[in-house]
Amino acid sequence: MKNRDILVSGGGIAGAALAYWLRQYGFRPTVVERAPAPRTGGHAVDIRGTAREVIERMGLVAQVRNALIGASGMAFVDERGRRVASLGTDLFGPSGGPVAEWGLLRTDLARILYDAIRDDVDYVFDDAITDVQQGEDGITVAFEKGESRQFDLLVGADGVRSNVRELTFGPEDRYIRDLDSFIALFSVTSDVELDGWQLMYTMPGGDGWAGRTAGLRPSAEPGSAIAGFFFRAPELKYDRRDVAAQKRIVARTFEDAGWVVSDFLPKIWDATDFYFDRVEQVQVDTWSRHRTVLVGDSAFCASPMSGIGTSLALVGAYVLASELSKAEGDYRLAYPAYQTGMRDFVDRAHRFAQTAGDGGLMPKSRAQMWQRNLMVRILPYLPKRFVGRGLENIADTIVLDDARPAHHQKTKH
Ligand SMILES: Cc1cc2nc3c(=O)[nH]c(=O)nc-3n(C[C@H](O)[C@H](O)[C@H](O)COP(=O)(O)OP(=O)(O)OC[C@H]3O[C@@H](n4cnc5c(N)ncnc54)[C@H](O)[C@@H]3O)c2cc1C
Repeated sequence: MKNRDILVSGGGIAGAALAYWLRQYGFRPTVVERAPAPRTGGHAVDIRGTAREVIERMGLVAQVRNALIGASGMAFVDERGRRVASLGTDLFGPSGGPVAEWGLLRTDLARILYDAIRDDVDYVFDDAITDVQQGEDGITVAFEKGESRQFDLLVGADGVRSNVRELTFGPEDRYIRDLDSFIALFSVTSDVELDGWQLMYTMPGGDGWAGRTAGLRPSAEPGSAIAGFFFRAPELKYDRRDVAAQKRIVARTFEDAGWVVSDFLPKIWDATDFYFDRVEQVQVDTWSRHRTVLVGDSAFCASPMSGIGTSLALVGAYVLASELSKAEGDYRLAYPAYQTGMRDFVDRAHRFAQTAGDGGLMPKSRAQMWQRNLMVRILPYLPKRFVGRGLENIADTIVLDDARPAHHQKTKH
């Protein structure tokens, strides 16, 4: 086997899953993670279709099940909190619909993956790559804090704003497509009875506003929930570092909202896990440059609102490690095979994400919102083949091969 020493930048979902599989196949991965320690809190993610099988093959089903936040479905409510249209998870099957059966906090999934490899993989927290020199025989990498080191291969698993992509592929504006909307999330204490349901209150476009939705999603903590805000604003400019200004944008955009939004919106000022960003998609034609390759959001983020990003990351990590193993470490064979294997899955997820928010969470008019509610209400009465199985079909695009690691390394579970 060639090229055993592999540096993975980013210890999130894709990075940790990749390190796990590389280790299983007999490679020696090192992970460098910018955060000083595994994080807590944050947003919820879904594991769908083939990604569930990746978790099964890792032997982590019990850990994932323990961390599930409970998913009954998504319901749209009116200003008085009456449910006007509901999409139960049972309508779509375990992997489909806006809320998947396997939903958990991103940080819980990252911790589960980290616990599965922490004893076997060299994990460097609180550092980041500053320079990459690719040569015929290997890669020289410089770090912010640690000494420069040599590796055989480099993987960018460092998210939408990938550092490795910037250093080896070029500036991020070549690769990031703006989907014209915004998302904000933060944890709140709440006495709204969710019972596993994600509740959404939509204000259709009109009076100078595009469509907007505010909602509550169950959290793993009893008595708390994740508040979410989704709105279209193609022209909006904001400063990435000015969190107070971002909070003001969200507060202003939803100050006239009905339902119980005025109860939980003010909690924005004290939120310590506030997240705000444009909804963006990463479009990279070829995911490798010489000895460097991208996986997860750095290569193919569909959009934070698509519900498929985590599944892409888990399956992408599995396919990349498996192709490197089949090619006995020859990246010139493995990287194109990984690209061919994943392309259709990624393209389908991208197409889905480009339209996901349109009539659903950001209807342009009252008529479009009414149409949405009507569609949702009649779905349970339609024959199964008419029920939109969009996400479920996309999540099953890839069938994993039967090849299992020959090198079964001992890993702690
Ligand atoms: C607000 C929001 C909501 C979402 N909702 C859903 C959902 O409902 N369902 C779903 O399936 N998916 C959802 N996603 C998408 C999902 O979180 C991602 O697709 C998934 O986490 C991708 O994994 P990743 O490992 O590629 O990236 P990430 O999970 O982002 O991990 C990247 C890692 O790299 C680290 N890093 C960054 N820069 C550097 C650097 N320079 N050096 C070293 N390390 C670095 C980061 O600290 C992080 O640990 C959502 C995303 C967001 C932002």
